[in-house]
Amino acid sequence: MELVHQVDVFRSTCENLRRTGPVGLVLTMGALHEGHVSLMHLVRKYASNVVTTVFVNPTQFGPNEDLAKYPRDLEHDSRLCREAGVDVLFAPAVNEMYPSGAQTKVRVGELADGLCGAFRPGHFEGVCTVVTKFFAACGPCVAVFGEKDYQQLKVIERVVADLLLPVTVVGAPIVRETDGLAMSSRNRYLSGENRTRALSLSLALKASVQAFNRGERRVAVLEQVAKAELAPADSLEYASIVHGDTLLPYENVVDQSARLLIAVRVGSTRLIDNCSLAEPGF
Ligand code: AMP
Repeated sequence: MELVHQVDVFRSTCENLRRTGPVGLVLTMGALHEGHVSLMHLVRKYASNVVTTVFVNPTQFGPNEDLAKYPRDLEHDSRLCREAGVDVLFAPAVNEMYPSGAQTKVRVGELADGLCGAFRPGHFEGVCTVVTKFFAACGPCVAVFGEKDYQQLKVIERVVADLLLPVTVVGAPIVRETDGLAMSSRNRYLSGENRTRALSLSLALKASVQAFNRGERRVAVLEQVAKAELAPADSLEYASIVHGDTLLPYENVVDQSARLLIAVRVGSTRLIDNCSLAEPGF
């Protein structure tokens, strides 16, 4: 595996790889876990070359968020990438991705305004800007994004379509711990009791899916079922059922495209989770 730190080296490396076959791209912020590794394996189905990035992107963190304490461990990340068969790991410094004087941003419309966008002002602008930069540096590729960050997946699909980028976006299923907790780099912030309370997210998803399976279609009832399970969390940002493609809310009753998205805080840790009500995947 080649470890690269500079944009121009990354660009020429990807160009060379593409001469041998398609390039698959997995973007991460590091502190890698099995969820990230599943993306590396999935992208291999589409591409003979797998490229991964590790970059804690400062512009997607709000002023009171966890940028400073976000876990960074390039040695651990390199090992996981190597074990997963990654060909190139790109780990740039901040000034590589944001040259001095940078003032260009990528902003998506309504799709990025609700849900996490409403609670994290500027978050998706930071995400879309850095992801577009990675796409520009990598060139034509298949890029896999986890459904764990479902709104992000939909927003990136929009960016690629709107900006005519030569990228095929593929969504990957959520990888969970055996007890149901969705894997996340932020799970390491969770100690004993908070780790237990974090299970309320997957329990809320399951409760709402069960109600849906019993035939319940009223959006207010399905959301209320989820919210009741979220009582152990310290605060609820949202538990919203939206259309899985448009992320628009339903008026009264849901259909087969309905997706429940949740964001809560447990202690000071912000956790998100989601699933389709008709095809929950767990
Ligand atoms: P992050 O490092 O948290 O920015 O995530 C990098 C990529 O990994 C994103 O596409 C995430 O959606 C994806 N990802 C993170 N956790 C999981 C998980 N538990 N299952 C599947 N994909 C994940």
